Amino acid sequence: MTDIPQSPEAVRAPTFVYRSVGKQTGRTLFCESLDLSKLAKEIGTPFYVYSAAMIRSRYQAFDTAFSQVPHLICYSVKANSSLSILRLLARERCGFDVVSGGELERVLHAERRSAKKVVFSGVGKTREELTAALKAGILLFNIESESELRVLGECARSLRKDARIAFRVNPDVAAETHPYISTGLHRHKFGVPIGVARALYAEAARSKHLRVAGVSVHIGSQITDVVPFGEAMERVADLVNQLRKDGHNIEYVDAGGGLGIPYQNDDSNEFADRLKGYAQALIKPLNELAVTLLLEPGRSIVGPAGALITSVIYKKTNNDKRFLIVDAAMNDLIRPALYNAHHQIIPVRIAAGAREIVDVVGPVCETGDFFARDCEIEAMNEGSLLAILDAGAYGMVLASNYNTRPRAPELLVSGKSKKLIRRRERISDLLRTEL
Ligand code: PLP
Repeated sequence: MTDIPQSPEAVRAPTFVYRSVGKQTGRTLFCESLDLSKLAKEIGTPFYVYSAAMIRSRYQAFDTAFSQVPHLICYSVKANSSLSILRLLARERCGFDVVSGGELERVLHAERRSAKKVVFSGVGKTREELTAALKAGILLFNIESESELRVLGECARSLRKDARIAFRVNPDVAAETHPYISTGLHRHKFGVPIGVARALYAEAARSKHLRVAGVSVHIGSQITDVVPFGEAMERVADLVNQLRKDGHNIEYVDAGGGLGIPYQNDDSNEFADRLKGYAQALIKPLNELAVTLLLEPGRSIVGPAGALITSVIYKKTNNDKRFLIVDAAMNDLIRPALYNAHHQIIPVRIAAGAREIVDVVGPVCETGDFFARDCEIEAMNEGSLLAILDAGAYGMVLASNYNTRPRAPELLVSGKSKKLIRRRERISDLLRTEL
């Protein structure tokens, strides 16, 4: 069916592409070599689907971009914490960035030997979480306050275990992103002000079981301009020099995560180029410091590798407004409701038919339950399938049971094969914990 244009903006080549199927008119969206309309028939909708090849290739692209310096990529588990994805990345020798005891447990469950490649971030680590991480023998604690330093020192003393620490410094660098995911300004709750860091490092060095080992920074998420990353790194590099003069042994600089993805049209071919610019921005200020660079990417590794597949339950016109009411909702993917985030929505089957302007909304009883407003799309029928793209990061991990909606299943696709990596929740799963 070569007469149907495959509009380049409508796919995420080479992973999500339209193909002709047998004698069917039109084209069908595939994830790697699997027909998404077939998958929908087998498993029902809504469901998340991820491409193993894309996750792997994005991890490898990161690894290549930083190959000129000693580095360890610590995938940020919060972006997508599915055990199968953690396992896939562990097999690539990836490390992990965790922000809770639960995420640490996930990593250990996926691959016990990854413990020594774990960095632990977060402003409110509890005594229990710190103790679990000490017992697991993680690589680095990113400390975010004087109180946390004291508590970690106490936990380490009672276990008689040493802990390598970095302070997460707040560099007071503004990055253009949604205010909820900007973290690098003085008014934010994260890290310690860079100006007081030297005094805190001196305090850490006095603690018997704490070993000063690095400096950490993370300025926010979904940042597409590399300049603020470079600015933050320059401030960190100055601090590393001062700390070394103070007699500390700084082996690691943890640059955090935050590299954004173009939700309008993520082109995998451009990814390597974008990474080059990002790597240059980070590496240049660290020139000659001889540190191991730790990176905590999340979204840029898994975001474009996932899609949420949903069916149209009803079509509805209120006055002159047209709605597609789909079976996924804000409880499955909250980014549009929470951040007014854009996700491109495309039909699973296209036939070059008439187009219409619609709001794509879910069944939850909130006006905020929408996926797209006034979006132009090929006219859909009730029962038609839609793919909400770039849903691999901060999708399933933020899913809830609002409106007592069971959470969607997840599938990992690899070439022609697929694996159900999380089954669909049942109402009975939701009722089980209630007394
Ligand atoms: N590291 C830390 C400390 C974070 O808070 C986050 C997310 O906000 C990340 C890494 C991952 O960020 P991203 O998914 O934007 O790469």
